[in-house]
Amino acid sequence: MYAPILEIDTKKVTENAGKLHAFCDQRGVELTFVTKGFSARPEVIRAALAGGITSFADSRLKNIRAAKQAIPGLKYLLIRIPAIMEAEDVVRWADWSLQSQIEVIKAVSEAALRQGKIHPIILMIDVGDLREGVFGRAQLDEIAPQIKDCAGVELVGLGTNVGCYGSVLPSVENTAVLVELRDYLHKKYGFSISVLSAGGTCALKLLEDGSMPAGINQLRVGEAVLYGEDTTGNRFLEGYHQDAFRFKAQVVELRRKPSVPIGELGRDGKGDTPEYPDRGVRLRAICAAGKQDVAWAALTPMLPGAEMIGASSDHLIVDVEDCGRQVQVGDWLTFRCGYMAVLDATTSAYVDVQIWED
Ligand SMILES: *Cc1c(COP(=O)(O)O)cnc(C)c1O
Repeated sequence: MYAPILEIDTKKVTENAGKLHAFCDQRGVELTFVTKGFSARPEVIRAALAGGITSFADSRLKNIRAAKQAIPGLKYLLIRIPAIMEAEDVVRWADWSLQSQIEVIKAVSEAALRQGKIHPIILMIDVGDLREGVFGRAQLDEIAPQIKDCAGVELVGLGTNVGCYGSVLPSVENTAVLVELRDYLHKKYGFSISVLSAGGTCALKLLEDGSMPAGINQLRVGEAVLYGEDTTGNRFLEGYHQDAFRFKAQVVELRRKPSVPIGELGRDGKGDTPEYPDRGVRLRAICAAGKQDVAWAALTPMLPGAEMIGASSDHLIVDVEDCGRQVQVGDWLTFRCGYMAVLDATTSAYVDVQIWED
């Protein structure tokens, strides 16, 4: 049966992984490879292992469990702050976890004691992105002594995350907060914290510039290894493969049409009111794939001259006017994938994933 295809070139992932791992290693930073963006597919994890990466992270326990069952011995950090009802599974499947809330930490501590373990945790500090983490010194002073009372967990690290919700960029100042709070927690409560964890890909810029505050010794990175891209920092990383992930869909209609819809405009299928710039009559290819398969805005057609114009739940619309009559009905169009494209394609039931080694 027809299905659009996600091609994964594992050799390119290995090369990206090897390069970034060496780069971080030389600067005293452990690269923790974030696998949530491709549903932790074992082939990609093996490619990262081949590149020298030994530390992994995922937001979903289901991914962590499946990865560990496929590849025994993997070391995994859980990077989505867990739900209370996940506590038993956190201790069972994650080697360590990011945490931010005492109710959850207590539940994890009790689960660890029941399982005869001490579960290491990294406490998240919110430095302004306003997603997860303890916000401000008063909140830290409230949670710190309570963590001390949790016999089943050990506070081994502090972490911060930027770029994901608030689109805040990492800076020397907002990263150095971790170093300062590590020393504060040592002095005031006697914690000995050995890991200072920053992320994600956008934090690489500080390492490249040589301005990463001393003491930061872990970076949680997905995007750079997978796509050679830093979306938050709005740049591609030089020397890294950017097309290890390619999406393919077949052309099912090819017609010249005006670029502005005709008739009174309401809202589109998603409830938005998009703008349609008038570019005249253009040759448009409809491909048999849509929002149920892939995040179309993260696709870039690889055919020179082709341009992504939009999508509905089941159709991708590509402007191929400038492709010199190369495109035929029945052709497969190939697209370079960004983060969200692969996130969707690996979680869609309708996409055929094919592993490649160029
Ligand atoms: C997704 C995620 C990362 C990785 O981010 P990239 O931009 O893919 O490198 C790091 N840390 C946390 C907490 C995340 O959720």
